[in-house]
Amino acid sequence: MKIFENPIEPPSIVKGWIDNKENHGSGIEVPVFYPGNGKQVSVLVEDTADDVEKAIASARKTFDTTSWAKLSVEKRIEILESCRQVILDNIDELALLECLGTGLILREIKGFHIQRAAYNFRFFAQYISQAHGERYDNTDGYLTLVNREPAGVVGLIAPWNAPMALATMKIAAAIAFGNCAILKPSEQTPFSLIKLANLLKDVLPEGVLNLVNGRGPVTGSSLVSNPGVDRISFTGGTVTGRQVMMDAGKQLTPCTMELGGKSANIVFASADYQRALDGALIGIFSNNGQQCLAGSRILVEEKIFDQFVEEFVQRTKKIVVGDPLHNETEIGPIASKQHMERILSFAEGVQKDGDKLLVGGKRLAEQKDGYFIEPTAVMASSNNSRVCQEEIFGPFASFISFKSEEEAISIANDTEFGLVSYVWSDHMPTILNVSESMRSGVVWVNTPMMRELRAPFGGYHNSGVGREGGYSCEQFYTEEKTISIPKTPLNLKKFGDK
Ligand code: NDP
Repeated sequence: MKIFENPIEPPSIVKGWIDNKENHGSGIEVPVFYPGNGKQVSVLVEDTADDVEKAIASARKTFDTTSWAKLSVEKRIEILESCRQVILDNIDELALLECLGTGLILREIKGFHIQRAAYNFRFFAQYISQAHGERYDNTDGYLTLVNREPAGVVGLIAPWNAPMALATMKIAAAIAFGNCAILKPSEQTPFSLIKLANLLKDVLPEGVLNLVNGRGPVTGSSLVSNPGVDRISFTGGTVTGRQVMMDAGKQLTPCTMELGGKSANIVFASADYQRALDGALIGIFSNNGQQCLAGSRILVEEKIFDQFVEEFVQRTKKIVVGDPLHNETEIGPIASKQHMERILSFAEGVQKDGDKLLVGGKRLAEQKDGYFIEPTAVMASSNNSRVCQEEIFGPFASFISFKSEEEAISIANDTEFGLVSYVWSDHMPTILNVSESMRSGVVWVNTPMMRELRAPFGGYHNSGVGREGGYSCEQFYTEEKTISIPKTPLNLKKFGDK
């Protein structure tokens, strides 16, 4: 049995961050594990409602009483660029801490996640450099200006599957538009984000970025339910998202919800076959299979179905699952024991549902203490199977065949979700018809996972509410204010002057 080393000496205790200082929370200690060996590596001190209140007070004070909200665009760009540089200067340590929390592959953390985290700050720096406003003149002699002002104190709730890349999109947007933020990372993956908050203390004034740690129903829910919060930006599961929105709704706090998916990856016989096969494997197995945008329902046209499935299975058998620190590893451990057991339960239920296991479905025995599972593929008896309707959020693909474009569209849209769709074809009318027919917020044609930050990202139905991206974030993190001024002293109707 192999025991994988911890990627980095873990901090013995993880605390919160308020007013640019560590805050020793007043809650219980929650154990944190390294998914690569299943060992407890640290404890996190949970922040209670009192700690959350303190974090909100810090953010409010900075927002209301300092120049932060009214900084010039030039100064704000400078700050965002400095945040980016701090991340790049500390890429090795941040990457190892991200690996310690998530079990994601170090090579990919360094090559993508941390780079994206740094770029998120540059992206919003560039975005605000192009900021422009609205002004209206009317024939009655009025000038009307539309201001965009920071929303205020924003609560940012991030999941465990890509903490740095996803949380920094929220932090960078919040800062770019002049807000003060309270970040709540997942209690399973606190290491990289608390390090980031520490590193940014020389760049960001006190109170601009606070961080509270703890379990969702305790710390997260205290943040969401607090009337002192002006926005909630949430990324996580659909069930949690629904709860968050109900809690926020009591205070009428506006929310964006980036939620789950069960995305259709539709492969037509007219596709570049090899590209589609490579793309289907990337679509389901990247990021250890734990991603909202995974192409987890692979729909293949009947003419090429058998060959495509067979080649997919052969390639899946050769995937290297193992130590996330090793360069040749393609899939690392699942993020937690509980999540691993949930994924395996789908494989165990396959026969009962009339589906057929094609490959995988078991825990990897030789790496027993870590949360490693075999990459898995299943032939679904129909789109109604549990493996086609529920988000598994792991390296687990389900195959379905279709005969016509209409049938592919109908199966693809037969889901409670609507985050992403993948379309593989070299026939332009098919590409256009299918793309326009998908009930999803994003469609990727002949490519997996192209995230254009200027464009909106988010889902239909149970995949979300609102969007993230340049203009979408500007709208969410700001309030619009309309100011009307007469250009000359105009005659006013007189009351009580007779
Ligand atoms: P969860 O919904 O379990 O948790 C997300 C975050 O919410 C965590 O920080 C969690 O804290 C917190 N939380 C849990 N309960 C509450 C509550 N009652 N009030 C406030 N906060 C709460 O999701 P996961 O962390 O399991 O992430 C996986 C999910 O995220 C998947 O469904 C995936 O599809 C989705 N996702 C969506 C993306 C998108 O852009 N659409 C991107 C990435 C992931 P804690 O974990 O500490 O309990």
